[in-house]
Amino acid sequence: MPRKIPPEEIVAEKVREIVSSGEGFMTQTHLLHEVRKALRKIDEDYAISPRRMRRIALKHGVKVDIEYRQTDRPLGKLKACPVCGSELKVIRNVTLDGGIVPFGVKCPLCGYWSGNPKRVPGKYVFHM
Ligand SMILES: [Zn+2]
Repeated sequence: MPRKIPPEEIVAEKVREIVSSGEGFMTQTHLLHEVRKALRKIDEDYAISPRRMRRIALKHGVKVDIEYRQTDRPLGKLKACPVCGSELKVIRNVTLDGGIVPFGVKCPLCGYWSGNPKRVPGKYVFHM
């Protein structure tokens, strides 16, 4: 099946429309379903990944609440934000569950942060 990549402006417009018209809060699964439906009405071959949709939404003013899981894995070298793909900033003295860890990373765009060990995003809830 041929796949086409929808332009960013169209995705942003649809995401904003859907998030603001809905009940206000949408999980990523729900939003993705609605966005894909709206895109297919424009062009049957339009396809989008959850990751690209999330990045576009965040870049265009949609807010996201994130539930995190803590892993046993070390933070390591995390170059790009796992939520929105922005470049991460290294920060010192991160408070983690009431304690202080010597360093961590923070995303200037979406607010994702992690100390060591790594925090990974689990569930996403979008709102305006
Ligand atoms: Zn981010």
